[in-house]
Amino acid sequence: MRQPLVVGNWKMNGTRTSARDLAAAIAGGLPANCPVAVGVCPSFVFIPAVAEQLQDTPVQVGAQNVADQDAGAFTGEVSAPMLKEFGCTLAIVGHSERRLIYGEGDALVAARYQKAIEHGICPLLCIGETLEQREAGETFAVVDRQLQAVLDVAGIDSLKQAVIAYEPVWAIGTGRTATPQQAQEVHAHIRRQLAAQGEEIAAQVRILYGGSVNADNAASLFAMADIDGGLIGGASLKADSFLSIVKAAA
Ligand code: PEP
Repeated sequence: MRQPLVVGNWKMNGTRTSARDLAAAIAGGLPANCPVAVGVCPSFVFIPAVAEQLQDTPVQVGAQNVADQDAGAFTGEVSAPMLKEFGCTLAIVGHSERRLIYGEGDALVAARYQKAIEHGICPLLCIGETLEQREAGETFAVVDRQLQAVLDVAGIDSLKQAVIAYEPVWAIGTGRTATPQQAQEVHAHIRRQLAAQGEEIAAQVRILYGGSVNADNAASLFAMADIDGGLIGGASLKADSFLSIVKAAA
């Protein structure tokens, strides 16, 4: 019922040429009628080249963030209308690197999410706990708070146009993946919490897992009942490993 989704977060990597080549290799390597929805999120500056390369392919182009405003004196930001002009259909919001390195808090993340929704871009909302929070038994409280901050602003119905990514911070870029059981426990919790606010929406919203997913561990994670695909960092930078992960989601 929920179409699996696998999205590559290329972070601050590559060149215009390598980004275009990677996009071409991914699009070219997908099986015909692939049952998995696929997206890639290059750096902002490579979006035009990647979008051009992916024209007439099923691979969606996403951004790694989106401004909380439409236009104006907001140096360094890129707005949802700008992203749309270049063919973006997805935007990551609330990635832990934005939250922890650049100090983006729940209110800003919610405003960014809201702008994506307003302009018809699917926000990929990242939530997840640090190792310290997990060890203190705060995992559920943290993801509940991060999610509710967004729902308070955008409303539960916004999830019809959005995707959630559970990304435990301790698993991102560390090679330390959550076990399928650890991930499923949190995904099931998120879906249960959402069900209390809207059963149909909770059943339909896709919840991706992110954190050191690779070609070897993807299938066991994606086999879990509430894991609907993945947000992939490091392993999305090589077409063959990314395509193996896509295959594991089918
Ligand atoms: C991410 O940055 O969203 C991510 C999941 O990274 P990695 O796959 O490298 O852990």
